[in-house]
Amino acid sequence: MAAPRKKPARPARKSEPAAKGPPAGLPAFPGDLAGAVKYAEPLGRHTTFRIGGPASVYFTPATPEAVGGAMAWAREHKVPVLVLGLGSNVLIRDGGFRGLVIQLGKGLDAVSHRAGTWKVGAGLPTPLLARRTAEEGFAGVHRLIGVPGTVGGAVFMNAGAHGQDIASVLISATLLDPKGRVIEKACKDISFDYRRSGLEGHVVLGCALKLEPGEPDRLKSEQAMLLRRRREGTPFDQPCCGSVFQNPEESTAGRLIDRCGLKGRRLGGAEISKLHANYIVNVGNASADDVLKLIDIARTAVFKEFGIELELEVQVLGESK
Ligand SMILES: Cc1cc2nc3c(=O)[nH]c(=O)nc-3n(C[C@H](O)[C@H](O)[C@H](O)COP(=O)(O)OP(=O)(O)OC[C@H]3O[C@@H](n4cnc5c(N)ncnc54)[C@H](O)[C@@H]3O)c2cc1C
Repeated sequence: MAAPRKKPARPARKSEPAAKGPPAGLPAFPGDLAGAVKYAEPLGRHTTFRIGGPASVYFTPATPEAVGGAMAWAREHKVPVLVLGLGSNVLIRDGGFRGLVIQLGKGLDAVSHRAGTWKVGAGLPTPLLARRTAEEGFAGVHRLIGVPGTVGGAVFMNAGAHGQDIASVLISATLLDPKGRVIEKACKDISFDYRRSGLEGHVVLGCALKLEPGEPDRLKSEQAMLLRRRREGTPFDQPCCGSVFQNPEESTAGRLIDRCGLKGRRLGGAEISKLHANYIVNVGNASADDVLKLIDIARTAVFKEFGIELELEVQVLGESK
C-alpha cells in the first residue's frame, strides 16, 4: 500500500524578491518559477564544508517543473549550471560559480511505496530515506543512514556505505536530460561505477528503488551501531566533505596519509582530521584554497613515501578567486 506522506507537501512559492538584480551580463532570471532566487549568494552557506564563493544566480526550486524552467532559461542564455543536493561531496572554490546554481531539496522530496518498490524524489535527504525504509520494514538502503546528502546526489555519486550502494537497488532514475526532456532511465542503462554514475549533463529528479523486506527492530539497531561507529571514527559532526580521496588498491587513503605523519596538519582554517586522516575539516573560516593546499601536501607526501597517486573523491567545482 502506498505510504502516506508524513507532512503535506509545501505549497509552491513564487520567487522571493531578489535583494539585488542579476550581475552584469546576465539576463533576468524568470520571476514566475516556483521557488526562491538569490543573486551573489555565498555557497559556503549551502555546503557541509561551509566553504564556497558566490553563485551568480542561486535557485531553490519548489517543484520539478521549476527545475525544468530554470534549466530552459540557462540553455536559452547559455548560462553554465551547477546542480547541488546538500553540497556534502563538493569543494567549491573561493571564486564561486559564475552561472546558475540549482539546489534541490524541499518540494522535490516526495516518497511513496508499493510492494517493495519505493519512489523517491531527488530532494529527500538520504539519511531520512534510510530511517524511513527501516522503520517500515525494508532493507537495502538502511546502511546509508550516515551518508549525508540528498537522494539525487546519492544517485549521481552512486553513494554507498558498509556494503550497500544506490546502484544495487535502483530500478530506474527520472532525469531531466540535456535537451530539457524528462526521461526515465533503467538502471542497466546507467554506467554506474565506484562513486560515479556517468550522468553528467542530467538532473536527477527522482528514482525508483527495489527494497527487500526486513525486520524493523533489527534494521534500526544495525543503524544505531553504524552511526555510533561513524561518530567514533570520523569527524562526523564537523564541517567537512566526507572522504577527500578514493581508497587506492594498496591500502586506505587515510592509513597512507596517517603514515606520513599528517594527522592534525593545519593550513589556515583547514585541518587534516586528527580522528581520520582522509577527512579535512574546516576548523574556522577555511578557504577552498587552504583545503586545496592541504590536499596537495597529502598527495605529495603519499607519492614520495609510497609511490601511490591519490585520486580525489570530493568534487572540486567553481572558479578560483
Ligand atoms: C561526514 C560525511 C560522510 C560521508 N560519508 C559518505 C559515505 O560513507 N559514502 C558515500 O558514498 N559518500 C559519503 N559522503 C559524501 C556525500 O555524502 C555523498 O556523495 C552524497 O551522496 C552527496 O549527496 P549531495 O546531495 O550532498 O550531493 P552534492 O554534494 O550536492 O553534489 C555532489 C555531486 O552530485 C551532483 N548532484 C547532486 N544532486 C544532483 C541531482 N539531483 N542531479 C544531478 N546531479 C546532482 C553535483 O553536481 C555534484 O557533482 C560523506 C560526506 C560527509 C560530509
